[in-house]
Amino acid sequence: MKIALVYPYSKRNVMGCNPPISLLYVASSLMQSNEDVLVIDADDGRLSPEGVLKRLVEYSPDIVGVPLFSTNLPAAYGFIRLLGSGKFGWKILAGGPHSTIRAQDVLDTFNECDYVLRGEAENSVKDLVKCLKTNSHLNSVPGLSYREAGRVIHNPDSPINMDLDSIPFPARELLKGAYKNNIYWRIGQRGATDVIITSRGCPYSCNFCFKVANKFRVRSPENVLRELIEIRSFGTRNVHIMDDIFVFKKDRCLKILKMIKKEKLGIEFKVRARVDCIDKELLLAMKDAGVNSVVYGIESGSQKILDLMNKRTTVEMNYKAIAMTKKAGLQCYSDIFIGYPGETPETIAMTEEFILKSRPTAVNISYMYPLPNTQVYNQAKSDGTLRNDWGIHSDAAWVQLPWIKSREELYPYGEAILKKYVRIPAVVFNVIRHILFKIDFKQFKMLVDYFFRHAFKSASR
Ligand code: SF4
Repeated sequence: MKIALVYPYSKRNVMGCNPPISLLYVASSLMQSNEDVLVIDADDGRLSPEGVLKRLVEYSPDIVGVPLFSTNLPAAYGFIRLLGSGKFGWKILAGGPHSTIRAQDVLDTFNECDYVLRGEAENSVKDLVKCLKTNSHLNSVPGLSYREAGRVIHNPDSPINMDLDSIPFPARELLKGAYKNNIYWRIGQRGATDVIITSRGCPYSCNFCFKVANKFRVRSPENVLRELIEIRSFGTRNVHIMDDIFVFKKDRCLKILKMIKKEKLGIEFKVRARVDCIDKELLLAMKDAGVNSVVYGIESGSQKILDLMNKRTTVEMNYKAIAMTKKAGLQCYSDIFIGYPGETPETIAMTEEFILKSRPTAVNISYMYPLPNTQVYNQAKSDGTLRNDWGIHSDAAWVQLPWIKSREELYPYGEAILKKYVRIPAVVFNVIRHILFKIDFKQFKMLVDYFFRHAFKSASR
């Protein structure tokens, strides 16, 4: 059977562009069952939906798989309509986070879509293909939703795979050209960048966070190292460890870092961490192993907002983690978001004060998106403060705060923070020291544009 897995949306932003790692995982599982698989990433060749379609026509698949995300349903809808216009006869399979939570909606709305696979799909996709090949009844495929006699049927969820070492490495060879042409890159890094996932799930329950599977599971350090060696054999020297929480089990984390150091991989890493799971020993071990930057979900400078989010961190911990990280000689990225229920101009001012005092190497500010099925979404829905909803025709969902009439009214607050932040001499110096000397012309242009946009844009505050 011929299966095309398509990532039809662009993932590019000022910080870089990642490979579609989840699709590559599904691809490798299918290849393990000797299926013929094609992966198309729209970023590879900057393909328009029509460009993707042209490649699909050339390949002539039996099944086309597309991931759906709550934040870009109108684009997904346009693309799936193009695929399912009837003349191709391809079976259309939706996956990804939105399909996991809203399988019924997906099959009700996307008429062209034949199947939805909920949850992690590496095993269930093989079951689905086997059923289709043998014309067996689909009720044996775990995690599958489909239509039968005019009704939508939801099979029981697929069991969570606890043995992550049993999953084959992502089929990067299917995007060999994209890797070679440096389509995947990260600001401040020369050459191609890759991503790796060494654990899945997260034991915390932040109210805004959506996870496909909660259960925290890990790969063995040996298995992780084998994949890193494979990544290196492609010539890649930059890797982003994309785990929700790489540092959760300290001993395992130290073991992986030690093995990386011993192997002399020559790879530079970026990792995500929680401020309460980090200490000096870990940071120094990271530095030793080649980690050059750590991303923290700081979220807010207000303790009240952190508590409302159920973040289980304190402002003090946030200050300490940033200071320790910089002291260890690592770049420190802070993710912030504005507009959580309970947010006021005063709590945003606290976040501003936090950023200006703690001075992380880089700050990423986003605005509250209540993703479906999260605690904050459910609460806003029951309070009557949810505005819009995730759909193919509506604008993005947001939560009404008593002092704003639209989500856009929050933007000037974020712009004002960034404007002050990018004008701090120490921040500019850090960017020159850590980033500017390592970037190519394309990245340089994007960075200059970013700085000028934020340094001189007039924020109405
Ligand atoms: S925000 Fe991070 S720490 Fe919180 S639940 Fe999500 S992944 Fe876990």
